[in-house]
Amino acid sequence: VSPGAGRAAVLAIGDELVAGEIHDRNSPWLCERLGAEGFRVEEVRLLPDDEPEIARSLAEAARGRDLVISDGGLGPTLDDVTRHAAARAAGVPLEEDAATLAGLATHWAARGLAVPASNRRQALFPAGAAILANPVGTAPGFRVRVGGAWLAVLPGPPRELTAVFEGALAPWLPQVPGHGALVLRRRMHLFGLSESAFADRVGVWMDRDANPRIGVLAREGILIVKLEARAAGEATALELLEARLAELRAALGEHVFSEETDDLAQVVARLALDGDVPLATAESCTGGLVAARLTAVPGISAVFREGFVTYSNEAKVARLGVPRELLERHGAVSAPVAEAMARGAGERTGARLAVSITGVAGPGGGTADKPVGLAYFGLWRDGAVEHAERRYPAFGRDLVRAFATNQALDLLRTALAGGLRGAPRSVDTGRLVP
Ligand code: ATP
Repeated sequence: VSPGAGRAAVLAIGDELVAGEIHDRNSPWLCERLGAEGFRVEEVRLLPDDEPEIARSLAEAARGRDLVISDGGLGPTLDDVTRHAAARAAGVPLEEDAATLAGLATHWAARGLAVPASNRRQALFPAGAAILANPVGTAPGFRVRVGGAWLAVLPGPPRELTAVFEGALAPWLPQVPGHGALVLRRRMHLFGLSESAFADRVGVWMDRDANPRIGVLAREGILIVKLEARAAGEATALELLEARLAELRAALGEHVFSEETDDLAQVVARLALDGDVPLATAESCTGGLVAARLTAVPGISAVFREGFVTYSNEAKVARLGVPRELLERHGAVSAPVAEAMARGAGERTGARLAVSITGVAGPGGGTADKPVGLAYFGLWRDGAVEHAERRYPAFGRDLVRAFATNQALDLLRTALAGGLRGAPRSVDTGRLVP
């Protein structure tokens, strides 16, 4: 374990959670919040409203941990058993808290009623527990020792959970061992590398005990690399991060597109605006997704000339001047057509840089020759055209289109990053990327 990181576990309790009727929103929130407090969440569990099961899980989760947080099951009804389970796990009886009972009495008196018998449960706490005030509901939380760990029991409704956490628990957390080890995070965004290719290149730094710890997330062709450094002081944490980032840049340089944003379109827009490079797009299977991504960036009007959506062969001929003969000989999904589309977009708009896409997004329309997932990209830069070919797994129309969109944006990015140079001057130059 990295220096100082307190070990934590989160247990979300409720029949509706394990039945899949409601989605657990509390655990992700708690994980992030605990991470920010310097804890490492090692386990998250969902549990039904079952007292023996909760008691057993709480005791288990507490083993070797500094902090366990449970949420849910603090309500007044008989199926809300978390308080009983917590007392059982702590090995102490439940006791009624006079102040909480008085608070409940005031709450109900405002409606002209006495405290219903069932609501009296909400004034019960494990002996010796410290009560965590709930400013937005009737069920306070509490914290109590379970074995060597602290157990904090919080209400389930997200609004109440966050209020009790921030109001009553967070101010006390510095007293838990392992709290407050400084955690600094950075991200690096890559395109064109699979997770396994990434691991092959820099896997040695992905050791779970490394500091900074590295995690990767793959999304639509983009790899998000997350670095998390822990240290006693900010200067040390920054130093650790910068050193590792420099090593990653050196090892992965051409694939790194940003350390700020995971949106390729923003990077393309910034490069095009900086270099004053007019852009155009010609899309078939992505139906304008590339143009939509680019035009989502404010200020892009200074460089974005036009986006063609040429879905039919007729449109490819009429709008982009794709020779009919190319379509007949090679088919719409082919390298020559991709190149002709990019050329058409470049020539007809005066753009210095244009990208085109033609592919089989699926689910239908694939052949042995041209399977679902096959896509060709054309790139026009300063009068020259090239193409790239990609074969995506048949993972569904939406994903194929999303991958293709990012690929097209990345072709624009690399061309811009290279200053538009290096463009071969012949028409048919083969693949851009293997
Ligand atoms: P209450 O006094 O409201 O009963 P409680 O602590 O007993 O509070 P639960 O009965 O477990 O909380 O949950 C109450 C409601 O809060 C649920 O029906 C659900 O709408 C919401 N909720 C509980 N847990 C979660 C969770 N993990 N994620 C999202 N919503 C949740």
